[in-house]
Amino acid sequence: MATTLTPVLTKHWDDPRSWTLETYQRDGGYQALDKALHTDPAALIDEVKNSGLRGRGGAGFPTGLKWSFLPEPDGGPRYLVVNADESEPGTCKDIPLMMATPHILLEGVAITSFAIGCNHAFIYLRGEVVHVYRRLMNAVQEAYDAGLLGKDIGGTGFDLDVTVHAGAGAYECGEETALLDSLEGRRGQPRLKPPFPAVEGLYARPTVVNNVESVASVPSIIANGADWFSGMGTEKSKGYGIFSLSGHVTRPGQYEAPLGITLRELLDMAGGVREGHELKFWTPGGSSTPIFTAAELDVPLDFDSVAAAGSMLGTRALQIFDDTVSVVHAVARWTDFYAHESCGKCTPCREGTYWMKQIMTRLEHGEGTAEDIETLLDVCDNIFGRSFCALGDAATSPVTSGIQHFREEFELGTHTPWWEAFPPEASALF
Ligand code: NAD
Repeated sequence: MATTLTPVLTKHWDDPRSWTLETYQRDGGYQALDKALHTDPAALIDEVKNSGLRGRGGAGFPTGLKWSFLPEPDGGPRYLVVNADESEPGTCKDIPLMMATPHILLEGVAITSFAIGCNHAFIYLRGEVVHVYRRLMNAVQEAYDAGLLGKDIGGTGFDLDVTVHAGAGAYECGEETALLDSLEGRRGQPRLKPPFPAVEGLYARPTVVNNVESVASVPSIIANGADWFSGMGTEKSKGYGIFSLSGHVTRPGQYEAPLGITLRELLDMAGGVREGHELKFWTPGGSSTPIFTAAELDVPLDFDSVAAAGSMLGTRALQIFDDTVSVVHAVARWTDFYAHESCGKCTPCREGTYWMKQIMTRLEHGEGTAEDIETLLDVCDNIFGRSFCALGDAATSPVTSGIQHFREEFELGTHTPWWEAFPPEASALF
């Protein structure tokens, strides 16, 4: 179930059998594809550019601009790869979207492919979610059977094949170039950029890599026009998006709303922080984004405002922690995650996350030394901006922002275990 202020992506989520082609087509599904197939591809790219849609995978790069980076056609293949490797801790928008309405993604895939001149698109799904894989495969088959994929779609001469590929469950494979290596059958490790995938991507061919939610937003832009989309959101963060609220919140779940909504407004929709407790800290966009406290309740959740307040909008994964939670314990869990998921390609991330984990474990257990906090900050300083991809930078975010806001709790870690300071039975989370 989703709560929505802008019913587009989550429109059908409460319908019985929302995932079927019949439900999706009942009120207009695939009409945008029909419109697109009778439009000049360059005009489609302009429409998406003018809408102001920015990538929904976390980085917020303008989607239409990315499409326009593809070089002039040279007769060889060019690809669309949908990044469905949703793995950022706290992020749970793409997987429910694909479960509830896989056809909105497939319609977006078909329109995007037509716009960029692609005849073979890939959806790279994280490996653990077998149920989503089955759902996508069923939807792809339904679309082929209905002539919405395959040869000569709608009698327009446009051919498109879609391959759904399940990875093996590595966070690193969400990094677009590691994803491409994995898709090619290699170990998923990031490539040096540039060249960006737009120039040299899958099988060294021009490739657009877009997040699920970005691609799923395309049909509504083509159906309703760029002005409709850019009429929502803020000046530099147009449109709507799915905000995932989790943790100590009365009604956790997905909330579709215009960008620029605040956590205070979202919490009003979600019934607030669980009864009898207060907000202590939260992540605006998953664990890779520096934590906020109650002081940022009214920061508009758009790319620029969140950045100006010292964090990142990221994937809009709002993890809510109340006063029962030990910051050191929460940060230690995230640090474990990054150390486990580091692909090992570059030294700062591989070695740095290992040492961060050692120190965080000591602080968790009340066995930290007087120097540990400074050493931790020093390790973070040696990772940030020096690692091969964003994973290393991300690993430092919870640690540095945790120390910035709650240094006293890290100091407590030099003599008191977290479970004595914050008895776990008071918390619903740990
Ligand atoms: P990035 O800013 O390096 O790139 C963003 C996109 O823009 C990429 O597709 C890149 O190819 C493209 N791009 C950037 N500059 C370009 C240029 N000059 N020419 C052509 N294309 C260009 O960010 P990134 O490393 O791809 O992603 C980091 C983000 O991923 C973080 O902000 C984080 O929020 C997010 N993230 C998401 C998840 C998830 O589960 N969805 C997981 C981890 C991280």
